[in-house]
Amino acid sequence: MMNSNVILVGAGPGDPELLTLKALKAIQSADAILYDALISEEILEMIPDNCKTFNVGKRCGAHKMKQEEINEFLYQMSTRHKVVVRLKGGDPFIFGRGGEELEYLQQRNVETSVIPGITAAAGCAASCNIPLTHRGHGNSLLLHSGHASTGEFDNSHTDKEKQTQVFYMGMNQAESISNHLIAEGHHPDTEVAIICQGTRPNQASQLGTLATLPIMAEEMKHLTPGLIILGDVVSLASNQQQRLNSKILALTA
Ligand code: SAH
Repeated sequence: MMNSNVILVGAGPGDPELLTLKALKAIQSADAILYDALISEEILEMIPDNCKTFNVGKRCGAHKMKQEEINEFLYQMSTRHKVVVRLKGGDPFIFGRGGEELEYLQQRNVETSVIPGITAAAGCAASCNIPLTHRGHGNSLLLHSGHASTGEFDNSHTDKEKQTQVFYMGMNQAESISNHLIAEGHHPDTEVAIICQGTRPNQASQLGTLATLPIMAEEMKHLTPGLIILGDVVSLASNQQQRLNSKILALTA
């Protein structure tokens, strides 16, 4: 095992089989684990009994611990334990604030390392058979935070027709995302998918367009976390997946 004191570990989007071997080894070797709200039960069950666990999870609207408090807590833990794992949903460096934690620890001379994870965009897209890039359909990929101010959606220099855009944390902002993109020149019929609980047993997804995005998000907001994928590549989502998931959606609605 590595010498690092604190390991930032990406846990993937939820399916425990999407953990990397390296992530599993880190979890099994940890003396203390700080995990966030997106970590699935099945993954938490892999934590050894003698390891101390702390839920520092924060979900939109219900902040449990502030980021600054997590940074400091992580640092304090590193002074007390040999191996501390900071377990994060998806990839630690994609909208995971992993960079901030790393910086805080490095400034205090804590040894750190990072184990990447499968980010929600990759996990959700794969489970719906949506290739995020595809010859003739998608030749660039943009990952957005739905939290960002609308000004940050500007990407006027790229070929919109062939661009895939993914919005993390966008479920509550679906209407403004839709309005903004249409105003920016995206066709209202641009294909859109929403995938909630991606890669988990209760995954639900819906396909629609930029114009129907606000209604789709409204219908699915009780199923979060949810990811919005927009672009021509969504037309490649498998029909079978769509039928299966609309059934799940009908059952849970
Ligand atoms: N670091 C994470 C992202 C954290 S931001 C990663 O790399 O995936 C949290 C957002 O990620 C959620 O609001 C949602 O948009 C998305 N997300 C995370 N897990 C998800 C899942 N299993 N299904 C759908 N969306 C998910």
